[in-house]
Amino acid sequence: MIEHQASDQQIAEMSANIKHVRERIAEAAHTAQREPSEVTLVAVSKTKPLEMIQIAYNLGIRHFGENRVQEALSKIEVFHPADLVWHMIGHLQTNKARKVVSTFDIVQSVDSLHLARALDRLLAEEATPRKAGRLPILLEVNVASEASKTGVTLTDIPDLARQVATLPHLEVRGLMTVAPQVEDLEEVRPFFRALREARDHLRDEILGPTCTELSMGMTNDYVIAIEEGATIVRIGRAIFGARAYT
Ligand SMILES: *Cc1c(COP(=O)(O)O)cnc(C)c1O
Repeated sequence: MIEHQASDQQIAEMSANIKHVRERIAEAAHTAQREPSEVTLVAVSKTKPLEMIQIAYNLGIRHFGENRVQEALSKIEVFHPADLVWHMIGHLQTNKARKVVSTFDIVQSVDSLHLARALDRLLAEEATPRKAGRLPILLEVNVASEASKTGVTLTDIPDLARQVATLPHLEVRGLMTVAPQVEDLEEVRPFFRALREARDHLRDEILGPTCTELSMGMTNDYVIAIEEGATIVRIGRAIFGARAYT
């Protein structure tokens, strides 16, 4: 897991990367006549060593995303300042859900009723209730219905949302997606737009005003995602550099 130790040069690079990403976020927000503060930057630290997370934290990053439970736990156990928010963004098996409810602050990758029920049941069993009450979650949407991806289809969102809304220990805050790989970046725009429309429908017709979040946009496509309404962008490579594996 440890790729390398942090050096002064790495700190300088990461500082420049974060500055660049924040500038592009601000530009994209302005293009869409939105405020940059409406967009939460989640730094995706998967495969990266704890030292790099600590550097990013010292450079002002407060939200981090991880996609593998074991790897994340080894980091969270050692590094959990009170103002740091850990996001689970990867496919989650129910047998690993217990650890997740006791360590992560938000689960972005709820892709089935089965998983939602497991999380809810585990939260009911937690000895110490969460400070915030319910566990915030996002429903993960397979926005282009790709065979290779988990997540619910756009059509299935309302049904899933209605059922998850009955679970007392979860709060659906919105939707998350990983957009398809495309040749021409503009091709992702309709998918982001479709996710925003799905979120609007959920908020206005099914879940109410707490359903605000739209987690979409990664290193390749976050500018377009913000133009289309993203409230959370999940950025790995543009902050931490290329990964040795995914
Ligand atoms: C890895 C990952 C990201 C970040 O991807 P980059 O291309 O490195 O920005 C975002 N979201 C999810 C779900 C991921 O697995």
